[in-house]
Amino acid sequence: MLAFGNDELEPCPDAYPGYVVHCMRCGEQHSLECGTDKNTGEPTSDLMFYRCGDEEYLGAIGGKVVVSILTKRSQDASMG
Ligand SMILES: [Zn+2]
Repeated sequence: MLAFGNDELEPCPDAYPGYVVHCMRCGEQHSLECGTDKNTGEPTSDLMFYRCGDEEYLGAIGGKVVVSILTKRSQDASMG
């Protein structure tokens, strides 16, 4: 199955811990980390963050990445 225009079909790709995102603030690369479910206190991929310096910034909402991905996990990197 061929895939065309991933950026158009899926503007917000699924988020997983360890994805490397491009930081628009400092220009460096940061890794996504799971947020915490405020109901259960368990780690969740619904809300994910990346750390820039001493600050944490939102990286994914609802399990979807909302920032620029530089590197996905190896199993997802076959298209590159
Ligand atoms: Zn940064």
